[in-house]
Amino acid sequence: ATPTAIMVGTGRGAAAGILVKNAEALERAERVGVVAVDKTGTLTRGEPEVTDVVAVGIAAGEALRLAAALEQGSEHPLARAVLARAAAAGVAVPAVADFRAIPGQGVTGVVDGRALSLGAADWAAAGAAGDDVRRLQDEGKTVVALAEGGRLLALLAIADPLRPGAVAAVAELQAMGLAVVMLTGDNAATAAAVARAAGIADFRAGILPGDKAAAVNALKGSGRAVAMVGDGINDAPALAAADIGFALGAGSDAAIEAADLTLIGSDLKGVADAIRLSRATLGKIR
Ligand code: ADP
Ligand code: MG
Repeated sequence: ATPTAIMVGTGRGAAAGILVKNAEALERAERVGVVAVDKTGTLTRGEPEVTDVVAVGIAAGEALRLAAALEQGSEHPLARAVLARAAAAGVAVPAVADFRAIPGQGVTGVVDGRALSLGAADWAAAGAAGDDVRRLQDEGKTVVALAEGGRLLALLAIADPLRPGAVAAVAELQAMGLAVVMLTGDNAATAAAVARAAGIADFRAGILPGDKAAAVNALKGSGRAVAMVGDGINDAPALAAADIGFALGAGSDAAIEAADLTLIGSDLKGVADAIRLSRATLGKIR
C-alpha cells in the first residue's frame, strides 16, 4: 500500500479504538484467514474468582489458608483469586518457604512444615473427587488441586467469566469468513466449556507457556495468514510469531510491546474492525 493508504488506515484505526504500532501489519491484516485467541484475560475478563472449595482431607477454611500461603509469591491471575478469597474470609495467611512457581502448572512450597503443591487438577488422579473435578470443569471453571505429596487435600474451582462482547466479536469474525481458534494452557475440559460458551469450535488446550508460539506457527502451516490476540506476558512470543499480533490495552507491557496493534479499551471487536479496515482502506486507496 502507499504511505497515504497506511496513514489513512492508521488514522481510521485510532478512530476505531485500535492503536497501530506497525503500519505494515495493518496492511497484512487483509490476508488474515485464522484468528488465534488466548483464553485467560483475552476471551475472559482475567478477573477470576474462587467459586467452590471442595475439601477432601481437611476443612475448607484450612485448605484456603494453605492455598493462599502458596500463592503469595505468584503473579498468576489464579493466585490473585485465591488470595482475594482468603482475604474476604478473614483468613490469616502464613508464610511459605522454598516457594517455586512452575509456569503453566502451578506452585509448590512448604507451609507449617508441610510440603505442598497447588496446580492443575487431573480428574483421573483425583480419586473419589474425580467426579467433582469433571463437573466443575464442565462448568468452564479452572480446577486446582491442593496436595501434600501424593495426597489430595482440597479442590479449588475458579471461574473467569467471558468479557462482555466476546461472543459477539467471535461471531463477527466468523461471519467475515475467518476461522477462530482458542489457545490456552488450561485443561481440555475447561477449555471445551469456555470455547463452547464463546461460540468457538476449535481450540488447543494444555499449551505450556513456551509452546504458544509453536501453536501459532502450526496454524500458519495451513498457508493462511494468522492473527493472534493475547494479553499476558506468556503471549508475547506468540504475538511476535503471528503475522499480526493484537494486544489488549489492559494487557501486560510485554504483550503490548510484542504486538503490532493494541486494542484500546481491550475490546475484541477491534480485531474484526482492523481486518475490515485493512480490506476496505487498502482495497480502495491502493
Ligand atoms: P492460561 O493459558 O489459561 O493463562 P497458564 O498456562 O498460565 O494458563 O496455566 C495453566 C494451568 O496451570 C492453569 O489453568 C492452572 O491449572 C495451573 N496453574 C498455573 N499457575 C498456577 C498458580 N499460580 N496457581 C494454581 N494453578 C496454576
Ligand atoms: Mg491470557
